[in-house]
Amino acid sequence: MSLYKTLKETDSVIYEAIQNEIDRQNDGLELIASENFVSRAVLTAVGSVFTNKYAEGYPRKRYYGGCKFADICEDEARNRMKELFGADHANVQPHSGTQANQAVYFTLLNPGDTILGMNLSHGGHLSHGHPVNFTGKLYNIVQYGVNKETETIDYDEMESLAKQHKPKLIVCGASAYARTIDFKRIQEIADATGALVLADIAHIAGLVATGLHPSPVPHNAFVSTTTHKTLRGPRGGAVMCKEEYAADLDKAVFPGGQGGPLVHVMAGKAVCFKEAASDDFKSYQKQIIKNAAALADTIQGRDFRLVSGGTDNHLMLVDVFAHGITGKDAEKALQKAHITVNKNTIPFDTQSPFVASGIRIGTPAVTTRGMKEAEMKVIGNLICDLLENIEDEKTLDKVKEGVKDLTSKFPLYLDIRDMWE
Ligand SMILES: *Cc1c(COP(=O)(O)O)cnc(C)c1O
Repeated sequence: MSLYKTLKETDSVIYEAIQNEIDRQNDGLELIASENFVSRAVLTAVGSVFTNKYAEGYPRKRYYGGCKFADICEDEARNRMKELFGADHANVQPHSGTQANQAVYFTLLNPGDTILGMNLSHGGHLSHGHPVNFTGKLYNIVQYGVNKETETIDYDEMESLAKQHKPKLIVCGASAYARTIDFKRIQEIADATGALVLADIAHIAGLVATGLHPSPVPHNAFVSTTTHKTLRGPRGGAVMCKEEYAADLDKAVFPGGQGGPLVHVMAGKAVCFKEAASDDFKSYQKQIIKNAAALADTIQGRDFRLVSGGTDNHLMLVDVFAHGITGKDAEKALQKAHITVNKNTIPFDTQSPFVASGIRIGTPAVTTRGMKEAEMKVIGNLICDLLENIEDEKTLDKVKEGVKDLTSKFPLYLDIRDMWE
């Protein structure tokens, strides 16, 4: 029966793309701060027969029959998330981080209402009010950023902008910000100006879940996240809120912004939240931070400037332009050596976003592979060797050798690659 043919038999093109992607992930040093490697358990849940199931609505209040087992997945995911973060309410249906944020906007705002969000080029996210995003088109956006001297969030500026513009919602949380965020202070600013707060912890959710970054949950009415970054779950979003907003938030997710939830991904989210509650996961998150600190030290020791002078979390922004190269060229040179980073604007950047003065480097993925401080030192030196000589073929060969040496010591998915036959 053709239903039971292997992937290899059915579609050799996609089969090969997957096998090649396993090799790419195994053979490279993944330093993109928003990426990670999920467990076999998460992969199995996401690749399960729940992809077949429609489950519009919520557990025990569905628009489709046959949801008995889908309800188990969603209930477990919701309850585990609430427990993990100490939240009143959780919705695990958003297909992505952006859709988790959209749900909060739809809960609270009408078109034309004012949002105070973080400037994208200072570390914010597209979905916090960028002009090309639906947020920039639907809402009146006012932006705060970082202080020019310290390159850390300027809470005084945030406060004066909030007083002046009276936003309905203050959005905080970032995609390229290496320092601790003061959610309590932001709530105080909101309280003083009649705003509500959405804390978007997409990047730092794993750190928050394990108490390694102060949690916004006790302070802010809404907390959104992705599940695939430091949290190391399946690609997707989730959103939490105080009890008083729960019913409205659920309506804003479905039917407000989405149709049927991805039950297979909710199953993967449930597994992810279970894993995240373990002692092993806490040790993993601690190691992410130690690794970022070690990598930052090595890179700074080689005279590269880090935005804000260092890192408190899982990522850092390197000002490569101060060293005479653009972010674009740095990204390209590193990719040749199978080191994956992304170019990133730095605060007050003089380059366009397509060129950028910085690169963003994160340690969640390499830490999942088991690498520790000693390996970070090696990686930092490989990066600097190459960035100091981006045209030199000999240097490139040496760095490639170094990458191969490291990755072969920390194999990834090779033993289970027949899962994708
Ligand atoms: C990654 C990220 C998101 C969005 O995630 P998608 O799943 O790509 O939509 C939202 N907010 C922040 C701060 C992020 O870093």
